[in-house]
Amino acid sequence: MGILTQKKDRCLCAFCSADHRVYLKAHISAFDVVICALVGLLVVSPLSGGFDARGLGLGAVFVGIAEIFVGLRHRLSVKCGRCGFDPIIYRKSQERAAEIVRLHLERRALNPAHLLADPIVAAGRRPGRQKAKERSNRTSRRPDPTQQP
Ligand SMILES: [Zn+2]
Repeated sequence: MGILTQKKDRCLCAFCSADHRVYLKAHISAFDVVICALVGLLVVSPLSGGFDARGLGLGAVFVGIAEIFVGLRHRLSVKCGRCGFDPIIYRKSQERAAEIVRLHLERRALNPAHLLADPIVAAGRRPGRQKAKERSNRTSRRPDPTQQP
């Protein structure tokens, strides 16, 4: 309800299927604007010795800061930290999103901290799935040992 509440939702990355949390709140609400105005009044009023309308101006500054903070928090949480895929950029320009993912994967490949990490494979292109299919095909071709001629 307030500015600092953290409503998160688990999301899967559309590119690598990695699980990550996304802040759902992208903008401050009307309740947050009222809270910021009250905080501005509470800061200015004791200094001026009573009600002072300049506190509303300070509250407007707090509203701006809160909106920037909440927007940045949401925007940074949407981007996948594993592969760098950004669905907001993808909606605007698919080529730009692909370029960002390619640069992120190149930087990741050069970083020694990721040498032992799992490789990032695009969703739907899992090599393990094909191997499992091949294995199931191989096992189905084997002759049944219980049936002997
Ligand atoms: Zn991802």
